[in-house]
Amino acid sequence: MALLLNGKEVARTKKDQIIKRVDALKARGISPALCIVMVGDRADSHAYVKGATKALSGCGIGCHLAHFPETVGEQQLLEEIKAINQNPEYHGIIVMRPVPAAIRWETIEEAISPAKDVDCVTVQNLAGVFKGDAGVFYPCTAKAVVDTLDHYGVEMQGKNVVVIGRSLVVGKPLAMLLIKKNATVTICHSKTLDLDRVTSRADIIVAAAGTPGLVGPASVNKDSIVVDVGINMVDGKLTGDVDFDRVEPLVSMITPVPGGIGSVTTSVLMENIVTAAE
Ligand code: NAD
Repeated sequence: MALLLNGKEVARTKKDQIIKRVDALKARGISPALCIVMVGDRADSHAYVKGATKALSGCGIGCHLAHFPETVGEQQLLEEIKAINQNPEYHGIIVMRPVPAAIRWETIEEAISPAKDVDCVTVQNLAGVFKGDAGVFYPCTAKAVVDTLDHYGVEMQGKNVVVIGRSLVVGKPLAMLLIKKNATVTICHSKTLDLDRVTSRADIIVAAAGTPGLVGPASVNKDSIVVDVGINMVDGKLTGDVDFDRVEPLVSMITPVPGGIGSVTTSVLMENIVTAAE
């Protein structure tokens, strides 16, 4: 039976630290707060906002929703983001994706002040991630993976780590963080040939593809440490990229979905907001 890398446990540990930092800020008259910009009425965006508001308020962090209709123009949205950049009440900004097709995402992400870019979408923060700078905001999910491994004392130095997924949100920045930890990193993607051959030789496998059941018994070995970043809905049930029931008995450590990396991601977001406020 594998050791379960419990994201809720990692999040609990982080929560105590976050609350201490929030209290110290409030003693200085600063109330840390996030502003979420949402265009349109996607159900998943509303669900995210609801979940984030609850989690943030549990740590004393404010969460404001700047909500615009589907018909909002790009120029108006840019002006609104500029105003939020300058508003001292907000220390972090997240713009929900996707934005409507009439709005260019590249223009929006570059309008966000890097100092408030707690989701790490601006070129300035991403460049810092790729340079290995310490003073930038790291993408929350990528950092959540490394923090979870750290929490459970998993040594990354010298380990062969396979990351499945090459997005700018998860796969690529995660590879940079792992390199910083002195791991030897392989990035796999949708065109990788014989994925199982690559993953089954790795010490640590991180699945971030958005493909349920991608990592199965043939993908692992008995010492594998398996981290599941995937979030998929299958028959109304939340599931990751790993076939958990069949893989868990075969490996040494594994994260569940739900209760794994997703739980830690929100904590990293809160850490970034608090850092921005500090
Ligand atoms: P994406 O669609 O932008 O990228 C997916 C990547 O996976 C691509 O690089 C693609 O090449 C690769 N891929 C897809 N199918 C593959 C296959 N069959 N074999 C090998 N590689 C394959 O997605 P993303 O934004 O990077 O998110 C990835 C997953 O992580 C999604 O399920 C998403 O919902 C989830 N996610 C979770 C969190 C969290 O907090 N846990 C946060 C962000 C994203």
